[in-house]
Amino acid sequence: MNESTPLIDDLAPTPPHPTRFALPTMTPDQQVTWLTAFTNALAHATESTFGLCLERCLIPAIADAYSLEVMLPDGSIRTHSAAHGVSPLPTTPDDAALGRRRAATILAAIAQVIHSGQPLFNRLHSMLVGPSLSEPTTLTFDHGAIVPLLIQGEAIGALSIGSMRAEWPYLADDGGFLGEIAARIAFALDNQRLRRQLADAVEARDATLVIVAHELRTPLAALITQMQLLRRRMQDIELHDERTLQGLALLDQQARRLNLLVDALFDATQLNHQPRRFAHERFDLGRTIQRVHDSFAGVLINHSLHLDLCADAVLIDGDALRIEQALQNLLHNAVKYSPHGGAIELCLERHDAHARIIISDEGIGIPVADRDRIFERFYRAKNAVSHGINGVGIGLYIVHAIIALHNGTIQVAETPEAGATFIVELPLADTQRRSPNQTS
Ligand code: ADP
Repeated sequence: MNESTPLIDDLAPTPPHPTRFALPTMTPDQQVTWLTAFTNALAHATESTFGLCLERCLIPAIADAYSLEVMLPDGSIRTHSAAHGVSPLPTTPDDAALGRRRAATILAAIAQVIHSGQPLFNRLHSMLVGPSLSEPTTLTFDHGAIVPLLIQGEAIGALSIGSMRAEWPYLADDGGFLGEIAARIAFALDNQRLRRQLADAVEARDATLVIVAHELRTPLAALITQMQLLRRRMQDIELHDERTLQGLALLDQQARRLNLLVDALFDATQLNHQPRRFAHERFDLGRTIQRVHDSFAGVLINHSLHLDLCADAVLIDGDALRIEQALQNLLHNAVKYSPHGGAIELCLERHDAHARIIISDEGIGIPVADRDRIFERFYRAKNAVSHGINGVGIGLYIVHAIIALHNGTIQVAETPEAGATFIVELPLADTQRRSPNQTS
């Protein structure tokens, strides 16, 4: 082949073929079956296996070579992937300059397809199959087509295919089979782009949260220490101004709440990547629950807290402080989501192989549709928002992670009446497990 050989024999789209295009090797039924398998394969391909997936699916079923070009945000065109099967007509000439000129012509044709949104069908079809545009490898085939990858009418790239087989003329197919193939590739690429954007956004958000949580911790710690010093000094000088003491107690309480929230923010970003160290000790869950109860009972005003512990020790292996943190979160929610007050029940039962903790309140409850999702990070039920109750949606995510790290489960129980009931189950320490026919 010399330089005068037409690379793209006619840049204008070939007039539509009178009959609907069908690859002679596939009947329309076979095409449908093939498209279904193709869609499945694309759905399972990752960004790194996408090219291989195209190669395996397209060659030789549809073509002897393919190249996929995508348009970058700056409008330039990049080869995403390319592969070829049988040996094509004349290979790339040794002359690099000629190779680059040929590549430029092919790119111009691809750009035309992308900008016009119209396919091109060629005889003597040259394609880019090389690894990069700086060292392009071009091959020429008997027949070829360049089909736009359209998303809502906008082309995001183009698929080029080439064939050496005389019985495979890629005639204009009025967007039929080749159009279907291109649409599926476009859809899969667009999905990958969206997933990548989502992952980037989540990463950026987590990075910001870590910085915010970290930056807030230091001044908060100083604030809490100063508050404690002030309270102690007031005790030392026997200053009994009731209002000042109350104000200080409130400041102290709010600063601690803020501290818990900052800790929770930090945990929410960390637990996802690398769980912080967990203690592995044997502890009595009853005592932990008693401690949580006592820390709440003294400060509740509109709520009554009822504790129902079983008489025996309930031994658990794990991190008592983490379990305490999880239960505090659940109780805190029980108070927060029952803005008009009411009774809160905290109950511990011992079963054959597990301990069960039940926490229920008489508040706004959780709509059935939201129950599966409230353990997701940043998820909030619709009624929490409509009741104007503030929150960020990370508390339950952390609770769930802590319970899971103890091989336990947490779920929202069916509540026939108003309010929410959470059931936590944790495996008992080995020494306490009873076989089913053992009596207590
Ligand atoms: P936050 O309370 O900061 O929104 P959580 O992760 O603790 O975050 O809770 C997630 C969501 O679960 C809440 O936004 C709320 O919709 C729902 N929720 C949790 N506990 C209760 C409860 N006791 N009663 C009603 N809804 C609750």
